[in-house]
Amino acid sequence: MALPQDKTPLLSLPIEQLPGEGYRRGQLATWLYVKGARQWEEMTDLPKALRAEWAAQYRISEFAQVAPYPSQDGSVKYLFTLLDGQKTEAVYMPYLNRKTICISSMVGCPAGCTFCATGRMGFGRNLTAAEILDQILFAAHHQGHAPREIRNVVLMGMGEPLLNVENVFAALKRMLHPQGLAMSPRRITLSTVGIPRGIYKMAELGLEVRLALSLHAPDDETRQQIIPTAHRYRITEIMEAVRHYYTQTKRRITLEYTMLKGVNDHEWQARALAGLFKGISAHMNLIPWNSWEGAPHQGSPKAQILRFAAILEQQGIPTSVRWSRGRDVGAACGQLALKQPDQPQAQLSRL
Ligand code: SAH
Ligand code: SF4
Repeated sequence: MALPQDKTPLLSLPIEQLPGEGYRRGQLATWLYVKGARQWEEMTDLPKALRAEWAAQYRISEFAQVAPYPSQDGSVKYLFTLLDGQKTEAVYMPYLNRKTICISSMVGCPAGCTFCATGRMGFGRNLTAAEILDQILFAAHHQGHAPREIRNVVLMGMGEPLLNVENVFAALKRMLHPQGLAMSPRRITLSTVGIPRGIYKMAELGLEVRLALSLHAPDDETRQQIIPTAHRYRITEIMEAVRHYYTQTKRRITLEYTMLKGVNDHEWQARALAGLFKGISAHMNLIPWNSWEGAPHQGSPKAQILRFAAILEQQGIPTSVRWSRGRDVGAACGQLALKQPDQPQAQLSRL
């Protein structure tokens, strides 16, 4: 019998290419994406012989092990060990009636932003479409929900999604597909450090998901100090791509701006931001910086964050401050770097 890593991952297949004829294929899609089955035995309305045949060729789960770390605020960080032993993470946030999951697109990240713990760990590898999707399916299952009960997905975990476009776009297609997770594109947010060709490609495919741009500075000089990839893409070039995406989709653009003391929190920078967004509907999220060991930064003081927010509002940019969740288990923005807080709830191995 083949090892799991030698089998074809079902979640990597477009729905139309799942095994089986029309009716059987539909049943399989329902088990995976509607009922969230993680074992062949669960699929009781499929003939046993067919299940055995498929089980020999295909795999359902992408993980060798999963360790959940519940935070005091209700969010749960999942540390996934992939079939090749590499690790990645996702964070489930059950607040109110908007069950949300923050998922990863890579192991580590090659962009190397100085304020981000994932950037510090460097690049491991791209996640496959199956590994991206299975983070959602596993978390739903572990939380006792059907997959479609998870209503919001944000691609804000480890990695830069627009440097892994093939796998990320394939996963997005399965999230949006009516026989897949059947999500509304308005409930999916892709966060990027700003890779213009990826933004154009997303517009071209017509995926229509929300775009979040991690801007972090209104000027190239400051941006290049904290985001090494900014040497390749200037703000004007990124803004052109964002403007194009906005024109195509008419979706309000989200901006993310991590507040770093003495780096990007000056009042002149708040005023400079307004000029960049003429003609685009945008919403600014100011993110108080989350600390991690060995980081070369300090977060801006609360008073400075509020002053910065007030200037942006005055300049006509709607602004929120995002106080992070999950800090106690290293699950807040930019803290995902596989550092394990104390003990997981339990190490799960029948996945
Ligand atoms: N690579 C993508 C998505 C993952 S990072 C991107 O950069 O957009 C998701 C968000 O977390 C980004 O806006 C990033 O700037 C922010 N972030 C990274 N490190 C952080 C930290 N230590 N504190 C607060 N936010 C951080
Ligand atoms: Fe990568 Fe985003 Fe972290 Fe930058 S902030 S290193 S792009 S994950």
